[in-house]
Parts: sequence; C-alpha cells; structure tokens
Amino acid sequence: MSYCSARLGSHGQTADACARGDTKCAQFYRWHGELEAARTAEAEGKFREYAAALGGHLATCDALLALVRWYRDRVG
Ligand SMILES: [Zn+2]
Repeated sequence: MSYCSARLGSHGQTADACARGDTKCAQFYRWHGELEAARTAEAEGKFREYAAALGGHLATCDALLALVRWYRDRVG
C-alpha cells in the first residue's frame, strides 16, 4: 500500500484513494484543473477578440494601401 505523494502535507491517504478521486486531495486537484481550464478558455477568448480586431485593422490597411496605389498609378 503506497501513500499519496501530493505535496499537500501528510494527508495519510493511499495513492489508490486519491486516484479514485474520493479524498480532499483529489477534490483539490480536480478543482484546480477545472480552474486552470476556465482560465485557459478565458485567455483564448481574449486572444480571439484581439485576432478579430487586428484582422479588421489589417483589412483597413489593405484598403488604404489599394487606394494609395490607385492614386499613385493615375496621378503619379
Ligand atoms: Zn492525495
């Protein structure tokens, strides 16, 4: 019988019990994992917003560049 090696102090549970997920230790790691997943999803959402905003700016720049080239070719 081996004891859980998680560094949450000596909680005296077997590794099997923690692996089954029915100890405070396992509950903590499950909660921590869910928190991390939520934070990652939130960060991804923000990055997607930034990417959309930058995409919009890029389209504006392309339009302006096309306009400048149009005038350059005709007015020179
Ligand atoms: Zn544990």
